[in-house]
Amino acid sequence: MRLLILSDIHANLEALEACLDAAPEYDQIYNLGDIVGYGANPNEVTERSREMGSIFVRGNHDKACSGLSDLHDFNPIAGLAALWTREKLFDDHLQFLRALPQGPLSPMDDVHLVHGSPRDEDEYILMASDAYVMLAQSIVPLTFFGHTHVQRGFLLEGASQGKALAPNYKSSKGKQTVKLEVKPNTKYLVNPGSVGQPRDNDPRAAFLLYDTDASVITFYRVPYDIKLAQKKIFAAGLPERLAVRLEEGR
Ligand code: ZN
Repeated sequence: MRLLILSDIHANLEALEACLDAAPEYDQIYNLGDIVGYGANPNEVTERSREMGSIFVRGNHDKACSGLSDLHDFNPIAGLAALWTREKLFDDHLQFLRALPQGPLSPMDDVHLVHGSPRDEDEYILMASDAYVMLAQSIVPLTFFGHTHVQRGFLLEGASQGKALAPNYKSSKGKQTVKLEVKPNTKYLVNPGSVGQPRDNDPRAAFLLYDTDASVITFYRVPYDIKLAQKKIFAAGLPERLAVRLEEGR
């Protein structure tokens, strides 16, 4: 099975379309949450995500933008964007977002999907030391997570020391891919990166493909029309920082 794994699209239609155009053939999409929030096309992106059909895990922005959670954990810019998004979203999409399931989900043997971390859907896995504790406790070899907007992974081979891995692309221009072989007797925590608001100093949209038969994960970076996404954010009256950060990739 070939699984397209998308996370943190954040209402960025240009980035989502670029990823889908660049994606190889796949059987199913796993969506790790934060479909909306920050970007200017919440309805279009929710509609497209629903149409494509997939397994979804809810993100903190999906909860906040649909009114399922309050905004106390949000900084002022994220809070303003969430309120704007809640106002714009069609009822049908609001209900869809409200009904999204909480991770971890287990769509297939050996794989878990979470938005934040396996122990807390809103937790950021940023520190390698935290990741290794979670890997040691994990009952499945492969967990995909989002939330940090950083494309990377952590692995634990047997009971040995953990390792952090960041895809090393040949170029910061154009579409690029990096492959990772999924080895037996090793546990992985892997983040596909963010489609719509990357924060790893690479402004290109990020996602991955997991080929379960070949046991290979392919990380992708894809350029998209950042200028157009920014123009829409300015025109919507959303905080300007949300547009500026797209070209910085952080
Ligand atoms: Zn997010």
